[in-house]
Amino acid sequence: MRRRASCKTAEGEPTSEVVVEIPRLEVETFLLETLMDNVPDAIYFKDRDSRFTSINRCQAARFGIASPALAVGRTDFDFFTDEHAAQARRDEQEIIRTGQPLVNVEEKETLPNGEFRWVSTTKLPLRDRKGNIVGTCGISRDITERKKTEEQLQHRAFYDPLTDLPNRALFTDRLQHLFQRARRSLGSPLFAVLYLDLDRFKAINDSLGHQAGDEFLIITARRLNRCLRPGDTLARFGGDEFTVLLDDIHSEADATGVADRIHRELAAPLEVRGCEAFTSVSVGIALSSAGYECPEDMLRDADTAMYRAKAGGRGRHQVFVGDMHQRAVFALHLETDLRRAVEREEIVPYYQPLVDLDTGAVVGFEALARWRHPTRGMVMPDLFIPVAEETGMVGMIGEWMLAKACRQVREWQCKYSRWSTLGISVNVSGRQLSQGGVAADVERVLRATGLDPQCLTLEITESALMDNLSVGAGVVQRLHAMSVGLHLDDFGTGYSSLAYLHSFPVQALKIDRSFINRMGRAPHQSAIVKAIVSLAHNLGMDVVAEGIETRAQVEALRALGCRRGQGFLFSEPLPADQAERLLDSSVARPFTDDSRSSLR
Ligand code: C2E
Ligand code: MG
Ligand code: MG
Repeated sequence: MRRRASCKTAEGEPTSEVVVEIPRLEVETFLLETLMDNVPDAIYFKDRDSRFTSINRCQAARFGIASPALAVGRTDFDFFTDEHAAQARRDEQEIIRTGQPLVNVEEKETLPNGEFRWVSTTKLPLRDRKGNIVGTCGISRDITERKKTEEQLQHRAFYDPLTDLPNRALFTDRLQHLFQRARRSLGSPLFAVLYLDLDRFKAINDSLGHQAGDEFLIITARRLNRCLRPGDTLARFGGDEFTVLLDDIHSEADATGVADRIHRELAAPLEVRGCEAFTSVSVGIALSSAGYECPEDMLRDADTAMYRAKAGGRGRHQVFVGDMHQRAVFALHLETDLRRAVEREEIVPYYQPLVDLDTGAVVGFEALARWRHPTRGMVMPDLFIPVAEETGMVGMIGEWMLAKACRQVREWQCKYSRWSTLGISVNVSGRQLSQGGVAADVERVLRATGLDPQCLTLEITESALMDNLSVGAGVVQRLHAMSVGLHLDDFGTGYSSLAYLHSFPVQALKIDRSFINRMGRAPHQSAIVKAIVSLAHNLGMDVVAEGIETRAQVEALRALGCRRGQGFLFSEPLPADQAERLLDSSVARPFTDDSRSSLR
C-alpha cells in the first residue's frame, strides 16, 4: 500500500508527490483512526471490565480531555455520575454475557457537574479473531438538540403559551390518572374539579385592549396559583376559563374553601398598564364522590355548575348537584320547543288573586305564564322566561300573554257585573322593554278587547327598568298617557336609583317575597319592609306584598300600612277555569278558610 503525500506551494499549486511504502497493519490502524476521528459520533472500545481501551476524538471532546489516549484504562465512573456509570456497566456485562447488541438506546448522560446530554447509543460485543468476546464497542450520537426540540413541541402540546399553565390536554390527562387510581383502589382519596370563568374579562379586553387583556390573564393566573397547594393543578382552558384539580381532599368543604380563597384573592384590584382593573370569578365545583365514569363527565358537570353560579350573580361558586345536568340539557331543547309552544298555544296564563288585606276581597289577578309541555308536564316561568329572553322570543310570548289575559279578564268583567272593574297585572321583562314594542302591543290589545286601560297594570322588575332606562322611560310615559298602571316588581332585590324612581309614574312597589318570607324571623327584615312601605308612601305610591303565606304576615303588613298583597295564603296561581270558579263563588268578599280550601 502506498500513501501519496502531496506538497503545495503558498499559492496552492502541487509541486511534487512523494510515494511512501507503508506496512499493511499500519495502514489498517491508520484507516481506522482516520475514520474514528472524523465521524461526528463518539466511538469507544472497552475491555471486559468496562475499562476504555480506545476512544475517538469526539468522545475525548465530550469527556473534556485533551487526547483520546488519556481515557485509556479509565472507566465511566471517571466521567459520569455513579448512577449513569453503573447502568452502563450493567448493560455491557449483559452484552458480554449474551453476545446480543443494544441498538439505538436513548439515554441521558449526566456529568458530575450536573450537565447532561441526550445520546442514542448502539453497543456491540467486541470479538477476537477466534470469536471470543473480549470487550464492547459503543457508538453514540448526540441527540440533545433533537430532544430539546421534541421537548419544546411536547411543552407546546401540553401547556398554554400565554400563562405557561397546563392546558386542557394535560389537565384531562392528570384527571384521567386520578380516575385510574380510583378504579384500582376502592378507598382512594376524594378529588374535585373547579371550573372558573372570569366575570368581567370581556369588558377589560374591550376597554384596555388585547395586550392588556393578556397581561391581566397572566397576573390572574399567578394569583390563582397562590390559592393552591403544590400538588394541585391549575390549567387554562382558553379565553378566560381556568380549571383547578384538587386531589386528596376530605370533604366538599375543602373544595368550597379553595373557592372562597380564590374569591378573596381576586377581590383586590389589579393594575394593568396603569389602570386599575377588577375581576371576580364564577366557580363550578364537581366532586369525585358523585361517582363519575370519565373525566369528560366531571368537567361537564363542573362547567354546568359554573353557569349556575354565574346565573346566580357574579363572584359566586356552586357545587354541582344531580339535576343540574338535566336542566342544562333541558335548556338546550327548550329553545326549539319554545318556538312551537307559542304556535300550539301551550303557553297559558295562570291567575293569582290580588287581595285587599283589610277586607280580604279579590281586587284583581296577576297573570303568570305556565307552559303545558306535551312531554315534560308543567314548565315554570323561572325556567323558560330566561331562555325566551336570551333568544328574543320573550316579546312574542309577552304579547301573547298580554292579549290572552286581557281578553280573559274582559270576559269575566262582562260575565259578572260585580267584577266589572276587576284588574289584571301582566309581567313585562327587561328584554321586552328594550325591544320597544310594548306600548304598541298594549294599545292594540286594549283596542281589540275593549278593556278599560285603568284595569290593566304592567309589572316591570326594578332591575329591568333601571337596565333599560332610555327606552324604558319612553315606554313608561306612553303607558302612563294611556292610563295603564305600572308596578315595580320584586322591589328591594335590584338597585333602584331613588332619583329615577321619583321621576317615573309608578303606582306601586311590589315588595319582593324574600322580604315577606323572612319577616318576623329577624327584626331587621321587618325594618326593611317598613322602610319600603314608608318610601313608597312618601313618593305617593302604593305597596303590594308578594308571597304572603301566613296570617301573621298579613297582620304585620297591615300594621305597617300595606293594603294589598298576594300569596299562597290566599291562593296559588290558578288556571282560568278555577279562577273563574273563585270569582263565581265569591262576591268580592273576604277570603275565608272555606273559600280557600274549595280552590284546592
Ligand atoms: P313575579 O312576577 O314576581 O311573580 C310572583 C311569583 O311568586 C310567581 O312565581 C308566584 O307563583 C310566586 N308566588 C306567589 N305567591 C307566593 C307564595 O306565597 N309563596 C311562594 N313561594 N311563591 C309565591 P312564578 O309564577 O313561578 O313566576 C316567577 C316569575 O316569572 C315571575 O315573578 C315573573 O317575574 C316571571 N313571569 C311569570 N310570568 C311571566 C310572563 O308572562 N312574562 C314575563 N316576562 N315574566 C313572567
Ligand atoms: Mg310579577
Ligand atoms: Mg315579584
